[in-house]
Amino acid sequence: MGTNFTVLCGERMLHPMHTQLYIDGQWVDGVGKLPVYDPSDGSVIAQVSLAGDRECDAAITAADAAAKAWAKTAPRYRSEILRKAFELMIAENEVIATLISRENGKAMPDARGEATYAAEFFRWFAEETVRTPGDFRKSPSGDKRILVSHEPIGLSILITPWNFPAGMATRKIGPAIAAGCTMILKPAGETPLTAMYIVDLMERAGLPKGVLNLVLPEKTGPAISRMLHDPRVKNLSFTGSTEVGRILLKEAADRVIRCSMELGGNAQVVIHDDADLAVTIPQLSLAKMRNGGAACTSANRIFVQRGIAEKFISEMTKSMSSYVMGRGTDPSTTLGAYVSMKERNKIAEIVDQSIAAGAKVEVGGVKPEGDGAFYPATVLIVEKDNPILGHEIFGPVAPIVIFDTDEEGITMANDTDFGLISYVFSKDLTRALRTAEAMESGMVAINKGVISDPAAPFGGVKQSGLGREGGFDGIHEFLQSKYIGVEI
Ligand code: NAD
Repeated sequence: MGTNFTVLCGERMLHPMHTQLYIDGQWVDGVGKLPVYDPSDGSVIAQVSLAGDRECDAAITAADAAAKAWAKTAPRYRSEILRKAFELMIAENEVIATLISRENGKAMPDARGEATYAAEFFRWFAEETVRTPGDFRKSPSGDKRILVSHEPIGLSILITPWNFPAGMATRKIGPAIAAGCTMILKPAGETPLTAMYIVDLMERAGLPKGVLNLVLPEKTGPAISRMLHDPRVKNLSFTGSTEVGRILLKEAADRVIRCSMELGGNAQVVIHDDADLAVTIPQLSLAKMRNGGAACTSANRIFVQRGIAEKFISEMTKSMSSYVMGRGTDPSTTLGAYVSMKERNKIAEIVDQSIAAGAKVEVGGVKPEGDGAFYPATVLIVEKDNPILGHEIFGPVAPIVIFDTDEEGITMANDTDFGLISYVFSKDLTRALRTAEAMESGMVAINKGVISDPAAPFGGVKQSGLGREGGFDGIHEFLQSKYIGVEI
């Protein structure tokens, strides 16, 4: 893996890897070090390098210098790099999963699932690279030919969150490579190791120097603002909270930088009274508990129709009670730790507030003692005005509201500023489709708990974001159309 590496401390993770910044094909130190913690006990597992203005500028210079030649490379060449990266990620799935689990806290089944999901973006975009569409046709008036091609937008800043440190990075790196853009990746400070591992893997897959750079600024806000005001930067692809997305949209406005925004969610679930509970309970448990509930797609507000409510609540409580809380890498764990005490305490505060406002606790609801950032699986029965429904909980908490008519359920479900994903459960496909069409969200799952797929467009409406990642749309976040009108 090269000479410039550090071995991670800790008995469970001894794989050598880089823990520095990656600029112009070199692993380099910056202005200081940032500790990375194991959230299950608060111990430090690594120290990673931090970037100052000099390193951020150097990353821009490297990505800019590589941009022209990279944009001209043959699609097949870029496709084969992505294919190789996919194969490496699959071969190294267990190492990547362990790394994710160590720094993020999530249980190994979730971490393995993420490592595979992340690799699939490289496979999908390897296939997309050689299929970028174009257009050549006669104008309606017949006065010319309309020729439309799609060109790489150019130097892109990629900013990712801590909850899916591998998946959110490859969902951006894949299409950027496919389109022919150079890039600077800025991972979350809580989970930089997975990103560093993926960058190393891209180098081993044959990515030329300068195409992908990684920085972890010492002062994130001012550093990214400075980068967005550099005329060499052309595009911003951000995944994170709506709050930070809003700040970045304002920053990007000064130079009218193209933005793709994958923001927060507050997913609604509508369970009709004819739902098959043998399907609903396991699927909804997945939708709620994948990643311990720390997912933008996590089932956040559960609306169940009165006729089925009692049985549903009893079975959902049984399912939620079955999760085993513990260190992510322990084989028996199905509910790992949260990334930090700060994030765990946010969940606890939201639940305490909800209980104070009248929520009835079916299971969980009590913050555990100790140094680990744990929170138990929790089921709450709430009224439609309970404050918990206004928060993205980002944890293993299932607030349930009972409704009567379909219209009432739909109105309650849409009563949010967010619109990433909705879940609908019913045995009657016509009824389920009617509800799905009424959902104000970019994605709807019918009788299914997880629908994220690199081959499908992922993204939200309302304040959940702008643009789509994955599917046929994903590559277009890194391309711009050029129209040439030709007199013939
Ligand atoms: P966050 O917004 O706090 O941070 C996301 C990234 O932005 C991190 O890398 C962080 O360091 C960086 N950042 C923070 N302040 C910044 C600033 N002023 N300028 C530039 N960058 C800044 O989000 P988080 O807590 O890491 O992640 C959780 C959030 O991400 C949730 O709201 C979740 O819904 C959302 N999310 C959305 C999707 C999606 O696809 N829609 C996917 C995963 C997570």
